[in-house]
Amino acid sequence: MTRWIGRLALALAFVVSWTQPAWAAAPGGRDIALCVLPAATGMTPAALFARPDRFECATPQRFYGPGNFWVISAPLSGEPVDVVRSASVWQDRVTLHILYADGAIRRTGFTSATTSARMGMGTRIELPVSQRAVPAVRLLWHVEGAGNLRGIILGANVGTAADSRRAELALGTFYAAFAGLIGGLLIYNLALLVALRQAFQAAYCGLLASLLAYAASTSGMLSRWLPLLDNNDRLRLNAILLAICASSVLMFARYFFERRVFAGWLGLVAHGVIAGLLVSNMAFAVLAPRHILTLDHFVTASYVLLILLVPAVLIQAWRQRSNYLWLFAIAWGVPIVCSGLRVAHGLGWIGWSFWLDQSTIMSMGLEALLSSIGIAYRLRLLQRQRDHAREQELVARALADADPLTGLLNRRAFLHQAIGQAGEQTLLIADLDHFKGVNETIGHDGGDEVLRSFARTLVSAVPAGALVARLGGEEFAVVAPADAGMVPGAILHALRSARMPYDMRVTTSIGTCSGPLLRETDWKSLYRQADRALYAAKAAGRDRARDAATLSFAA
Ligand code: GH3
Ligand code: MG
Ligand code: MG
Repeated sequence: MTRWIGRLALALAFVVSWTQPAWAAAPGGRDIALCVLPAATGMTPAALFARPDRFECATPQRFYGPGNFWVISAPLSGEPVDVVRSASVWQDRVTLHILYADGAIRRTGFTSATTSARMGMGTRIELPVSQRAVPAVRLLWHVEGAGNLRGIILGANVGTAADSRRAELALGTFYAAFAGLIGGLLIYNLALLVALRQAFQAAYCGLLASLLAYAASTSGMLSRWLPLLDNNDRLRLNAILLAICASSVLMFARYFFERRVFAGWLGLVAHGVIAGLLVSNMAFAVLAPRHILTLDHFVTASYVLLILLVPAVLIQAWRQRSNYLWLFAIAWGVPIVCSGLRVAHGLGWIGWSFWLDQSTIMSMGLEALLSSIGIAYRLRLLQRQRDHAREQELVARALADADPLTGLLNRRAFLHQAIGQAGEQTLLIADLDHFKGVNETIGHDGGDEVLRSFARTLVSAVPAGALVARLGGEEFAVVAPADAGMVPGAILHALRSARMPYDMRVTTSIGTCSGPLLRETDWKSLYRQADRALYAAKAAGRDRARDAATLSFAA
């Protein structure tokens, strides 16, 4: 196992180092530095372009809180600019003013309601830059109704149309691969759920479905499918979907781990954290932009609680000697590091990166994939448990059917198997002669030993496939097809020559009868007649056999 964990870690390290350059920046284009000025009445683009020194560049944008702002870019380098991109954040209206080398200013923009038309892959909003004879030299955004939770204009980036196409292709491939992976897992696990009906499978399917929905929203696909979707409403939906994803990760763990792990306080705390995630994000979705900062703090707090819960779950799993500890430690590692980064960003400790948003999707995808390996492992354990239970059941059934002293069938099992046999059957009843005397001579334990030897001898003397039972006391019964060649004389002979404990000489008397044995009434009639034959054998001096047919002739 440790060898495999080592290999997995190596593979992860390889993937991370390989993708390292991609992590450095958003795909395509050039990032640009921005400076901020809170909006006041009377400000005009021309006046602001003329006084870039009025803008504040050192203070992080998010420190300004919600409101209306002007955001100016650093001078553009002179390289061609076809599009200006920024990340999708809470804002009511954005107007982009573009200053050209000849002093002309053009503008474009969008509102929350018209964002969808500008939405690219990865919810990057793209605004076209009008091409003129002279190049664009500076950009100025007027942002109204900025939520400013993470920034006013985030991830500002300029580039060519070719950059844009490349980025769209790369991100489109990324999301398509993600959707394919999660969609495939979902269909496969739904089929497994129908077959096995385990609670953790339902939780896993819920996780996959919410992950797909979150991916559709955060990839920008939802905005393409629903062009009239207001982008602030999409952000409300996004918050709820992410909370559902996080909750379902926890629910999956709750059902996947052995029951004892979440028993007691941990189960209660887990439910509390899920409630916190859902309620805070719902509140955000319903109430924003009112109290948007406070609501966002509640949301961040709920994710902090989730992260704190993870080590608690792992410690509890370790203390309860869970079979799945190592699995969750690996599967949760990456998403937890990612949500840790998000929280660190939410608290303002680290800057925003385009990939920070995408990391949620990637790490959740990885977690879903590793969980599916966990499910395979879990199914193997389930199968092992089931096989074991089946073996136990067979043993228990054999015990329930057996006479404890001799190992022969007991009366109940014998009747269950004998009644219903098609064709003519012979019933043979054997009763040891003067067994009371045997007990008196060698004791009850010795008598038991004699009964065991008798049973062994009887089994070896009857035709293969015959049903042999101890009906009770020192009375035995055999049922075999009438044409199976069961000869009472041979049985008597075998018993006479069998070596008994303490060299006791033991004989038996036998009564037989043949007839149908399809129903309970057939059994009663056969038994009555065989018993009469047995009685006749006893009466005639014991150590002999009588058949009911000859008996009735004799009578
Ligand atoms: P008969 O030849 O007429 O059958 O005489 P019998 O003494 O064998 O018959 P009876 O039915 O009078 O006595 C049966 C005895 O078998 C009585 C009982 O103590 C003994 N016995 C019944 N079950 C067991 C058992 O499980 N172990 C031992 N050691 N003895 C048993
Ligand atoms: Mg007897
Ligand atoms: Mg008896």
